[in-house]
Amino acid sequence: MRVVVLGSGVVGVTTAYYLAAEGHETVVIDRQPKAGLETSYANAGLIAPGHVYSWASPRAPKILLQSLWRSDAALKFRLKADPRLWLWSLRFLANCTAARNRANTLRKLSLCLYSQAQLAELARETAVEYHAIRKGLLYLYRDPAHFETGTANMRLLQEHGLELQAIDPARIAALEPALAPAQGKFIGAIYAPRDESGDCLKFTQGLAAVAAGRGVDFKHEHEVRRIEQQGGKITGIATDKGRVEGDAYVLALGSYSPILARPLGLDLPVYPVKGYSLTLPLAEGAATPLIGGVDEANLVAYAALGDRLRLTATADFAGYDTSYDASHFAGMLRVARELFPHGAAYDKPDYWACLRPMTPDGPPIIGRCKIANLYLNTGQGHMGWTMAAGCSRIVADLIAGRAPAIDIAGLTLDRY
Ligand SMILES: Cc1cc2nc3c(=O)[nH]c(=O)nc-3n(C[C@H](O)[C@H](O)[C@H](O)COP(=O)(O)OP(=O)(O)OC[C@H]3O[C@@H](n4cnc5c(N)ncnc54)[C@H](O)[C@@H]3O)c2cc1C
Repeated sequence: MRVVVLGSGVVGVTTAYYLAAEGHETVVIDRQPKAGLETSYANAGLIAPGHVYSWASPRAPKILLQSLWRSDAALKFRLKADPRLWLWSLRFLANCTAARNRANTLRKLSLCLYSQAQLAELARETAVEYHAIRKGLLYLYRDPAHFETGTANMRLLQEHGLELQAIDPARIAALEPALAPAQGKFIGAIYAPRDESGDCLKFTQGLAAVAAGRGVDFKHEHEVRRIEQQGGKITGIATDKGRVEGDAYVLALGSYSPILARPLGLDLPVYPVKGYSLTLPLAEGAATPLIGGVDEANLVAYAALGDRLRLTATADFAGYDTSYDASHFAGMLRVARELFPHGAAYDKPDYWACLRPMTPDGPPIIGRCKIANLYLNTGQGHMGWTMAAGCSRIVADLIAGRAPAIDIAGLTLDRY
């Protein structure tokens, strides 16, 4: 079969790799000159089942509301005349009950655990190098009440197979000596020994090279203009450089998937939620982090990626605007200096912003839809690096006519 994959982010590339391994003639279309240059470019690098909680929670409506007047909030909700944002927000609010939060979180957890195993398998079979660190992640707390909520929440994940430990400041310092200067700031942490980190861009480009070597045809610098449909089937992809045809198609365009799906009569509730990313060279000879984590009070995620320190933060409802300036990174730089005062070259910051493809309930949208030969692999939101291998394995299984290894109820488009 000839399969056309739209998008060469981490999701599109893992899909293409699996399809080629199945023996399909595989084509990937992307507007960028290389794989992984949009949202997969500079994420925090955390492979984090321990941070899987769905954003739609009983606490979320208050946080959204407060963010309307707080300029320093980690979440910036903006009242805009955008009917899609309103519809997405209504769906988000409908998922903020305790019962739905629990169900959505558990769906994501099962997918994350499956995906982590698939990623390990992919890394083994391809030997792609991506600065992987497999020493767990630390979720750090500054405030006792917040820590209590964190440890209460962690029980749900523990009951469903995830190993998590509530630890004290001495254990934090023992696990992560680089945090010693900040030891007094944290009253405890949740340690997820099986969580990991790694460079998503390096992995995506490394896997793309392996896939190209196995015959995948990457059509870069091709802008998808339209997905053509006739009689309930996709017949071809119109790009700025001509038409591309296949027998089956996979939509993996991240935040842009709903725009291309809309003319087909498909309503994909994926909304772009902007995040900011800061990369600093690690300082030579200084204590630098061994394992990644999240400063929960500031919602700043960090990881060491080779000889660099990556930090990310903020959920900004700014539509498709990916602009940024130095002022967006002041908070992150303050946190970085607090955590690792001598750990990085703070005079050499590299800034970036990109869009998380968020669904209102949290799980991604994968699998079949009402168009016979179109498969969806999108909406991985804040966890696309963690979930990519699992989602793509599932989509490749469905295209091969096999039942996926995990239950995909609640992950398909028909849940909306
Ligand atoms: C600040 C931040 C931090 C994050 N941290 C983490 C983390 O620590 N762990 C984690 O698991 N996840 C994290 N994520 C989420 C993760 O990065 C994303 O979920 C993931 O990268 C999405 O991958 P994708 O392939 O779907 O999208 P993308 O990487 O955006 O790929 C989509 C591709 O489609 C192409 N495209 C779009 N429109 C067109 C068109 N019309 N024609 C042709 N090509 C087109 C783009 O060029 C792009 O290459 C983070 C996200 C952000 C923003």
